[in-house]
Amino acid sequence: MGQIPRFLSWRNMLVLSLAVNFSLILKILKGDKERGDSWPDRTAYSSIWPVISTTASGSSLLSSASCNYTKIEEDDDRIINLRLGDPTVYERYWQEMGEVTTLVIPGWQSLSYFSDHNNLCWFLEPELGKEIVRVHKVVGNAVTQDRFIVVGTGSTQLYQAALYALSPHDDSGPINVVSAAPYYCSYPLITDCLKSCLYRWGGDAKAYKEEGPYIELVTSPNNPDGLLREPVVNSSKGILIHDLAYYWPQYTPITSAADHDVMLFTASKSTGHAGMRIGWALVKDRETARKMTEYIELNTIGVSKDSQLRVAKVLKVVSDSCGNETAKSFFDHSYDAMYERWKLLKQAAKNTKRFTVPDFSAQHCSFFGKVFESQPAFAWFKCEEGIVDCEKFLREEKKILTKSGKHFGDDQSFVRISMLDRDSNFNIFLRRVSASSNSTL
Ligand code: PMP
Repeated sequence: MGQIPRFLSWRNMLVLSLAVNFSLILKILKGDKERGDSWPDRTAYSSIWPVISTTASGSSLLSSASCNYTKIEEDDDRIINLRLGDPTVYERYWQEMGEVTTLVIPGWQSLSYFSDHNNLCWFLEPELGKEIVRVHKVVGNAVTQDRFIVVGTGSTQLYQAALYALSPHDDSGPINVVSAAPYYCSYPLITDCLKSCLYRWGGDAKAYKEEGPYIELVTSPNNPDGLLREPVVNSSKGILIHDLAYYWPQYTPITSAADHDVMLFTASKSTGHAGMRIGWALVKDRETARKMTEYIELNTIGVSKDSQLRVAKVLKVVSDSCGNETAKSFFDHSYDAMYERWKLLKQAAKNTKRFTVPDFSAQHCSFFGKVFESQPAFAWFKCEEGIVDCEKFLREEKKILTKSGKHFGDDQSFVRISMLDRDSNFNIFLRRVSASSNSTL
């Protein structure tokens, strides 16, 4: 480093550097705003971050209603970003649970790449494997007996591992991957991002007519519309991947233990821990599980042990809470939160008639032992009364960022809206779309 000129004291330098940093931060924030739609998520994080908790503060509230939607939040004209399914609705529950999920990991742990030499998925932490089996048993939403568990960095990595494992590795060219529209918008992007010669995006499964083998993705409940799904291509040549990210009782009645060849689950949407980046696959066939493991070995040489241990702890707390007669379980809480939000949104739709949300049929849930309608993680929201581009309309007129139906292989009059944001943002969203009789929507 060069010498500091004499006329600049350390104090001068400090003031100068603070000023430079401050203007840089301002520039970055301003730049984010100017980027608008291409960087909406950053803008929203900076605007929602200060309002983490809106209502509850003590654990005594755990036995009361999980949300307070009657409380009027300050609506300061800020942009509300509901484009992603960032599961921050769960934040309050986990805050109120306090220390029970706290994990201290000493520095000497997690040095080895290996978790279990005897397991086909050698990087799966045994504790996580155990808690995955337990939570599925408690909830009754998936068969785990005689299944191989493959852990992934989110179910996003497992989706790619499954494509790698299920595609023919001969010279027959890329296999088509299809899903019925509206499909999860990331499928086409992930499938085609490396222009693989093993697989390629084949579009809407309902329109798929080609001969020969193909892979069909069945997402049930579906992202974005929340409907329960079955395969739609009428052929015996299909290889199925079931994405069951939302097959949990806070979103939909559990009608039976899912029993498919390849089933994908994720901590992101079950417990809300998207940032831990842990997903798991339940796989019937040994060779498929071996190839999925091979893909993850080639891709990231395994999956973070620290994250696996944290998810194991969270799943343990969830399962324990289900057996606790005296307190509300995690699923009781999250069911109540989703129930309340959907009740209010449906009421708003009924009152204004200027937008609609799908109807869901009621089914018996074996976990809760009662009949209820699905209350999905996303609202598949349709602008009525001639609004052609619903996403643009909500952005420009209501300052609400959503994801257009065109990204899901559907019409622009639809948008996908996250139902998983914090109370404060959901309240403002609801108020803005409800204020239709005397405003533009
Ligand atoms: N599948 C579906 C249907 C999803 O909605 C999501 C998350 N939006 C994922 C997979 C990805 O989950 P993860 O965070 O585990 O990668």
